[in-house]
Amino acid sequence: MQEKGTISIHTENIFPIIKKFLYSDHEIFLRELVSNAVDASQKIKRLASLGEYKGELGELIVDVKVDKKKKTITISDRGIGMTADEIKKYINQIAFSGATEFVEKYKDKGEDQQIIGHFGLGFYSAFMVAKHVEIHTLSYQEGAEPAIWSCDGNTEFEIKPGKKKERGTDIILKIADDSEEFLEDHRIQGILDKYSKFLPIPIRFGEKEKQEEDGEDKDGKKKWKTVKVDNIINNPTPLWTRSPSDLTDQDYLDFYKELYPFSEEPLFWIHLNVDYPFNLTGILYFPKLKKDFEFQKNKIQLYSRQVFITDEVKDIVPDFLQLLHGVIDSPDIPLNVSRSYLQSDSNVKKINGYITKKVADKLGELFKKDRKAYEEKWSDIGVFVKYGIISEDKFEEKAKDYALLKSTEGKFYNIDEYKAAVEANQTNKDKSVVFLYTTDEEQQHGYIETAKKRSYNVLVLDGPVDSHFINHVEQKYEGVTLKRVDSDVIDKLIDKDEKKESVLSEDEQNKVTEAFKKAVNDEKNTITVEPMATDDLPVTITLPEFIRRMRDMQATGGG
Ligand code: ADP
Ligand code: MG
Repeated sequence: MQEKGTISIHTENIFPIIKKFLYSDHEIFLRELVSNAVDASQKIKRLASLGEYKGELGELIVDVKVDKKKKTITISDRGIGMTADEIKKYINQIAFSGATEFVEKYKDKGEDQQIIGHFGLGFYSAFMVAKHVEIHTLSYQEGAEPAIWSCDGNTEFEIKPGKKKERGTDIILKIADDSEEFLEDHRIQGILDKYSKFLPIPIRFGEKEKQEEDGEDKDGKKKWKTVKVDNIINNPTPLWTRSPSDLTDQDYLDFYKELYPFSEEPLFWIHLNVDYPFNLTGILYFPKLKKDFEFQKNKIQLYSRQVFITDEVKDIVPDFLQLLHGVIDSPDIPLNVSRSYLQSDSNVKKINGYITKKVADKLGELFKKDRKAYEEKWSDIGVFVKYGIISEDKFEEKAKDYALLKSTEGKFYNIDEYKAAVEANQTNKDKSVVFLYTTDEEQQHGYIETAKKRSYNVLVLDGPVDSHFINHVEQKYEGVTLKRVDSDVIDKLIDKDEKKESVLSEDEQNKVTEAFKKAVNDEKNTITVEPMATDDLPVTITLPEFIRRMRDMQATGGG
C-alpha cells in the first residue's frame, strides 16, 4: 500500500533554537522588520503606479520608536498592510518556511558559525529579542478590516479585529528581559546606521537636534538656535543606484566621504552597473594607501537591494580587490547558504569575473588616456595591480601592460618597454635579459652607483608584494631574469674590456681574497678581488641571487 503525506515540523521547537543559536546576531531582528516595512511601502508604491491602488499614497515613511517605560519597540509603515487572511497566509505559514530555512542553516553550523543568523530569518527573528509580538495592520484593499495578530513565541497565536484606521502595519515588540539593551536609543541608532543607511524608503527614528541660523544680533553677528528635526537614518537614493551619466566627480567624492568619513580622497572609482546575466550595481574606489602600509580588508560593503548584508565579501570579490573600498549591491548573490556553496555558485563566479574585468578596463583607460597621471598614482595602485597579476590569470591577461616598473631615476616602464630598453645595453648576450633591482635604495646605494656607472639601469622593487612579483615575472616572461643589484651576477653583465685594471698585483689580490674569506667565514659568498667602478665603495660582498632569495624567504617565513 502506498501513502503520501506532508512531513510536519513542530514550531514549538523553533523559538528556543532560534534564541540559542542566533545569539551573536540578535540585532538583525531590526534589519528584518525594517526591511519588511520598506517592502510593504515599495509594494503600495508599485500598486499605485500600476493604477491598482487609487487611494492617497501619503508620506511613505517607516518609523522606529522605542518606549522605555512599556519596554516596547514599534516599527510602523504606511505600506500595503495585511488582511486577517493574509496574516494567516504570510505570517503563520512562514513559521514553516522559517523552520526549514533554519534547519538548512543549522546543518552548516559546524562549518561556519557566521552563516546562522547572518541572513534572512525574516519576521520570526523578532522573537530573538521579544517575548511578545503584535501586528496591528490595515490592508490597502477597499473595505478591509483592521486586524491584530499576537503571539508569545510559542505555537499559539491569536487574531482578532483591530482598530487601526490608517493603511499600513505596526509591529510591536515587547522586549524580553535579557534583551533590554535594545531599549537604548544609541543601540537602535547604531543598528539602523549599520543596516538601513541606504534603504529606499525614509526611515525615521524620533527627532534630533539641529543648529539653525536665527537672524543676526545687533552687532551683525549670526545667531543660532536649536531646533528639533526628524532623525532620518537613511539616504534613500545612494549614488550607486543612480545613473553614472547624471553624476559628477564631486558626487563620487562626496559619497566616499559619506561611506568613510575619516579617509583621504580616493584616487579613482569604477561605477558598476550590469543587469544581465546577473544584476549588480555598485561603486568601487581605489583608496590612497596609508603611510604605515597595511592591507585593510573588509572595506567593501555588500548590499542586497539596498539592505546592508556584510562587509565580509570574501569569495564574491577577488582576493586582490578586497583592498578596494566601496559598495556592491546584488540581489543575485545567494546570501543564506554556506560559503562552500557560494564559491561554486555560477552567479558568484560571473560576478567575480565581471569585477575583475571592470577594474582591468579602468586601469587600461587611465593608462592610455593620461600616462603621466597614471604614473603619479602608481605608488598607490601598484600594490593592487601587482597583487592582481600574481593571483588572477584573467586579470593578468588584461592588465599586464599596465603594471609599471620604476627605475631609481624615477622613470616608469611596463615590462615590455623595460625589456626593450635594457636589452640593447646588455653585452652578455645570454639567453636572458637581466633586470637589476634594489630592495632598499639607501642600503644598496653603493651597488646601485656601481651599476649605474656601468650604464646599467636599476629598478626599485621595495614594495610589500614585490618579492612575489619578481618570482612571477620570471616564471611568466621568458627571457627575463631579475637580479638584485648586490648579487654576484652584475659583473657578468659587463664587458671585460670595460673593466679597470686592478692596482693590486696578482699576489696581493690572492692575499686579500684569503683575508676576506677568513673574515667572512661563509663559503656561500664568492670572494673575488676586482676593481670597482665607483670609488666610494672599496669592498663589495655579493651573494648568488638564489641564495640571497632563499635567505629572504626564510626571513619572511616562506614564499
Ligand atoms: P520575507 O520578507 O522574506 O517574505 P518575512 O518572514 O520577513 O519573510 O515576512 C513574511 C511575509 O509577511 C512577507 O513576505 C509579507 O508578505 C508579510 N509581511 C511582513 N511584514 C509586513 C509588513 N510590515 N507589511 C505587510 N506585510 C508584511
Ligand atoms: Mg522579510
